[in-house]
Amino acid sequence: MPVEPSGIYVGLGSNLGLDAKIPRDILHEALVLLSQTGDSVTHLSSFWSTKAWPPNLSKPDYVNAVCRVEPQDQDPLALLQRCQEIEARMNRVRSPDDRWANRTLDLDIIDYNGIVSADCSVITLPHPRLAERDFVLLPLLEIAPNWRHPVTGIAGTDLLATLQESENLNNCVRLD
Ligand code: ATP
Ligand code: CA
Ligand code: CA
Repeated sequence: MPVEPSGIYVGLGSNLGLDAKIPRDILHEALVLLSQTGDSVTHLSSFWSTKAWPPNLSKPDYVNAVCRVEPQDQDPLALLQRCQEIEARMNRVRSPDDRWANRTLDLDIIDYNGIVSADCSVITLPHPRLAERDFVLLPLLEIAPNWRHPVTGIAGTDLLATLQESENLNNCVRLD
């Protein structure tokens, strides 16, 4: 029996405002821009407040969410490029000194229909650090409760349970 495609999921994060916009506004605007540029957003998780990752008390908390998209093409790299254009429109600045610097907007492709690609600096699928991140798994499981990791086949709920037993949580709190 053919395996049902698992869907295409994009993670959103922000811990810096832009002009009058607070991180929540930036995420909303990113979702509008995704749709306007041709990638339909079909599902959206709650917004979650999350401590910075890796842990760093001097960095503002993040707002994180995950959405499911029906992209305009079947090209993961093209979707990533569109995501990066939206990041740039939100003044995302990449710091050469700090990979996880504060940012107005971060859009990551979490899973693209279960495609497993070689680890590569341009695009790695699924996202290589998703299983370590409650701020990805919690919103992802809200919109895809039966989601499984494409590489290991482990249920997302089990990955989250393992993470919750560990010390490596980001104190995610669901926002209204
Ligand atoms: P992390 O990847 O740990 O979440 P980050 O999002 O802060 O860190 P970025 O600076 O936004 O890292 O991205 C670094 C590079 O990661 C990008 O240039 C992009 O080409 C690459 N990349 C590889 N796989 C993916 C993916 N699945 N989604 C988004 N970017 C990816
Ligand atoms: Ca990221
Ligand atoms: Ca990123």
